[in-house]
Amino acid sequence: MLRVPSLVTRHLSLSSGLLRRLAVPAGFATLASMTDRRNPVPSHLAAVHDHARSFADFVFVYPVISRRSRGLSIGVNLNPDKRCNFDCIYCEVDRHTAPRALGVDPGQVRDELVAMIRFVKQGGLARAPKFSEAPELARDIKDIAFSGDGEPTMVPNFAACAQIVADVKRSEGLEATKIVLITDAAGLDKADVRRGLEIMDANQGEVWGKLDAGTDAYYRLVNRTHVSFERILKNLLVTARARPIVVQSLFLRVHGQPMPRAELEAYCARLEALTRDGAQIKEVHAYTVARPTPEAYATRLTAGELEGFARTIRSATGLTVFTFD
Ligand code: SF4
Repeated sequence: MLRVPSLVTRHLSLSSGLLRRLAVPAGFATLASMTDRRNPVPSHLAAVHDHARSFADFVFVYPVISRRSRGLSIGVNLNPDKRCNFDCIYCEVDRHTAPRALGVDPGQVRDELVAMIRFVKQGGLARAPKFSEAPELARDIKDIAFSGDGEPTMVPNFAACAQIVADVKRSEGLEATKIVLITDAAGLDKADVRRGLEIMDANQGEVWGKLDAGTDAYYRLVNRTHVSFERILKNLLVTARARPIVVQSLFLRVHGQPMPRAELEAYCARLEALTRDGAQIKEVHAYTVARPTPEAYATRLTAGELEGFARTIRSATGLTVFTFD
């Protein structure tokens, strides 16, 4: 039996048969009015700042307006249990509240994703209070992203989840929509994850891998993990040799100090080494703290500071760097 959150069934409020209730009227999927500009998402929108990973009574699927996705991203939270192999000093996940679920139910992921896509296409999301400020952005799905309250590659059935997303994407007519994996890169060498990446490759997949440091010491300071820095770098390299990736890097102040100059140079040298060794880095996303952090000493950079970091990275590496303050 398909399980569909009650908000969606209330919104659709049709009379018989789930599939018929969720049928999409022709023409609804063509309301992409702002897709041509480089980034159509203004940073002042409340929906941009509110990245809550819960929506109504959905457990695994949630919508966000994401500047980095340049519009509506449908998140698939494979970690409602909040598990992660990093403990970043800037992590925005609230680990003081109880998990919404323990483990992933692939069938429920599929049902919620189908329901959310149809809810979006039929205009329900655009009328939801959080999204009504920018309804045009809430009708065009830019990507479906494995991103949530932890590290997606830690689940034992990542490949199965990737297959579900690919199947739903195809069956719902979203062939051009990307599947994004937002990852700390620690699990990219797992066999099941590699299978999942191959499924993503065949379905407009894109990996956004985290790299926040240039040295082991700064990596441990910011990401606080038992996973070795060498493993992260190797995973980024091997993954990016097989397909272009996005490197996502959070820059911040630690105890009032931005990343030291020598650390930034080491970071740039890591990017250069990755490229020299065959990594295809499509672009770098440089961003900063946007929401409350677990550590009060982890604070945001100004937009000017972040852009200064981006200029240094561009000039040292020749890579395309976008900033998201
Ligand atoms: S990798 Fe992401 S989820 Fe994990 S601790 Fe860091 S910011 Fe939080």
